[in-house]
Amino acid sequence: MGIWYIIILFLLFVYFSYRYAWWKRVVDYRYPRILMYHMIREAIPGKKFNSLRVSPEAFEAQIKYLYDNEWKSYTMSEAMAQKNSLPIKSVVITFDDGYRDNLTNALPILKKYGFKATIYLVNDRHDRDWSGYRKAKNEGAGLKDEPKLSDDEVRELLDSGLIEIGAHTLTHANLNDLNILESQREICGSKEEIEAQFKVECHSFAYPFGLYGIKDEKIVMNCAYTNAVTTQLGIADLHTCDPFKIPRVTVSGKDNFFAFWLKLRTGKRGVKK
Ligand SMILES: [Zn+2]
Repeated sequence: MGIWYIIILFLLFVYFSYRYAWWKRVVDYRYPRILMYHMIREAIPGKKFNSLRVSPEAFEAQIKYLYDNEWKSYTMSEAMAQKNSLPIKSVVITFDDGYRDNLTNALPILKKYGFKATIYLVNDRHDRDWSGYRKAKNEGAGLKDEPKLSDDEVRELLDSGLIEIGAHTLTHANLNDLNILESQREICGSKEEIEAQFKVECHSFAYPFGLYGIKDEKIVMNCAYTNAVTTQLGIADLHTCDPFKIPRVTVSGKDNFFAFWLKLRTGKRGVKK
């Protein structure tokens, strides 16, 4: 066996370890795993944002794994309300933005395994290109063309009894660009519209792009939401965590099943992500 063979094996081992951080300890299973998804559809070769597109096959494999391993699912507001009595291995499945495939591709799989989900809906979501609100260079990158849920389709999701509708601002605003009044309109207005339109209570909020400041946290609190999720990666103890800054576990369209399995254990796939 040549020395090069050993060196190459060693480098592969270093790469694998960095990518998957396999040595990390599992986070206490009493803390719920809050999973963040966007679209459940095939990736589009060559397009941006494929990390937001989880294929229906991968999604079903993930939900089936949760089902087979006796994870219990909750909506975000249920998990908050029942934080004192959540069993070990509880999971909250969340979808941001309001893509149509949440109904056409995700709901049948959720129904098949009896899993619930929370969908954070942008009110003004049709023909709006929010890709560039965070980084101008992302404008026109394709999220605008992704079909979004119609109001009737949102009602169909609600009728399933498995779905909670949360708010995600009126226009998928970058809250860091807004003054207090503008933020208030976006954050409180989205809740009011959802409640009026769909005759439901709206308790849960997700910060668009995961971007927010102290002013926005206060507004979320004052508008009588009970909880808000971020895009910060991690698994939190809902007892000690700030209810308006809850981290989530990102499920990426680029994750293989091993990465998903690691993320359920530690909240992250590797050293950084
Ligand atoms: Zn979003």
